[in-house]
Amino acid sequence: MSTTTAKMKTTVELMRRGAVMIKEPCSVCNGVQLRYKGKVYCSNHDDLAVALQAKEILFPDVAEDLKNLLLVKLKESMSLLENEKDSAELDRLVSLMTRYVELLRKLEPAQRA
Ligand SMILES: [Zn+2]
Repeated sequence: MSTTTAKMKTTVELMRRGAVMIKEPCSVCNGVQLRYKGKVYCSNHDDLAVALQAKEILFPDVAEDLKNLLLVKLKESMSLLENEKDSAELDRLVSLMTRYVELLRKLEPAQRA
């Protein structure tokens, strides 16, 4: 299979997945450009295989990352809390942890989706 045929197949696949051809030709090679998942690709000189692998940012993925980050922060706050004697500082830590926990609870349904 020639490179041109492969490119055409990939272009067709991208169109099938919702890519749209845009009017402006490529400023580099004057080739036909496609818009796919918010990015513009040149059907001639860009590696369209990269475009095919482009992933949309999905809320469950972000929620999962945020959840992990919050758990790490919560654990850090816990060790600080353990050694803290100052009541104002304790109060600050507890309210901070409360907010972490609240946010974690809110993220739970997203994880199941
Ligand atoms: Zn180009």
